[in-house]
Amino acid sequence: MTTALITHSACYDHVTPQGHPEQVARLDAVLGALEGMDLQRVNAPLVADDDLLRVHPQAHIDAVRAAAPSEGRRSLDADTHMSVGTLTAAYRAAGGVVRAVDMVMGGEVANAFAAVRPPGHHAERQTAMGFCFFGNVVVGAKHALDHHGLERVAIVDFDVHHGNGTQDLVEDDPRILFCSTHQSPLYPGTGAAHEVGVDNVLNVPLPEGTGSKAFRDVMERVVLPRVDEFAPQLLIISAGFDAHMADPLAGMNLTTADFAWVTEKLCDLADRHCNGRVVSSLEGGYDLEALGASAAAHVKVLEERGR
Ligand SMILES: [Zn+2]
Repeated sequence: MTTALITHSACYDHVTPQGHPEQVARLDAVLGALEGMDLQRVNAPLVADDDLLRVHPQAHIDAVRAAAPSEGRRSLDADTHMSVGTLTAAYRAAGGVVRAVDMVMGGEVANAFAAVRPPGHHAERQTAMGFCFFGNVVVGAKHALDHHGLERVAIVDFDVHHGNGTQDLVEDDPRILFCSTHQSPLYPGTGAAHEVGVDNVLNVPLPEGTGSKAFRDVMERVVLPRVDEFAPQLLIISAGFDAHMADPLAGMNLTTADFAWVTEKLCDLADRHCNGRVVSSLEGGYDLEALGASAAAHVKVLEERGR
C-alpha cells in the first residue's frame, strides 16, 4: 500500500493578481517539497456534476461558471479572483478530493493527499469567498457517504482560518463531524465555540500567539477525543499550513513538527476506526518555505503510516 499524491497541471492555471498570497508558486512549493517521496502520482479529474450538486445548488455552480472570464480576470470579492484557468482548476480541485476518496475507499492506496488549488474551506453553499469556489473536502465527504455508502465521515480542519464554508455545507448533516481549530479573531470571523450545527460541529477558536504546546494540548483534550467518540469510517483533513509561525496572514506559532505531530495523531485515530483511511486536501499556507516544509512533514507521515 502507498500514499496517493493527487494534483493536476490545471491547478497552475488559476492565476491570481500580482501580490496575492494564494499564488501559483504555492503549488510549486508543495510539489517541490514532495519530490523524491515514494508516492503514487495521480492526475485529478474534473469533478462530476452530481458530486458538486450534493453540496452546492445549481444556482451557485451556474454563477461560478458565468463569472469565469474568457480573457483577463474577474473578481468575485476583494480576495477571490478568477482567471481564464480558474474554473477548470476549481473543477479539478474538487475532483481531486473525490478521486482521493475513491482510491482510499477502493483500497488502491492506504491514504491520499490532494495538492490542489484553489482551496475550498471558505466556499459556502451559494458564495465563493476567501480564495475558494467549491467546498472540495465536503464534496469528497458527501461522495464517500452517498456513493460508497458510509455512515460517518469526520473532517478535521487545522487551517489557521475557520472553515466557514465547510461548516455551512455540513452543519445540517449529522453523518459528518466537522472539527476546526483556528485563530480567533481572524478572517472570516465565524467559528465560535457555540456554533455546533446539529451537534456535529466542534469549533475551537484559539488566540493569536497560540504555539505548539497549547495547540497540542487542545488537540489531545478536545478535538481528538471528539473524533474518537464519533468513530468515523473515513477521516478527511483540511490541511492548511498557515498556522505556521512564519505565515504572513495570521499570528499562530506552530512549527513544522506540529503538523507532523497532528498528522500522526489523526492517523492513530484512523487506524483505530477506519483501517487507516485518511484523505487530506491542501487548504492555506502562504509562506512558501514554511508551506513546503510543513506539507512535506504532513505527507511524510502519511507515507510512513500508509506502508
Ligand atoms: Zn487559511
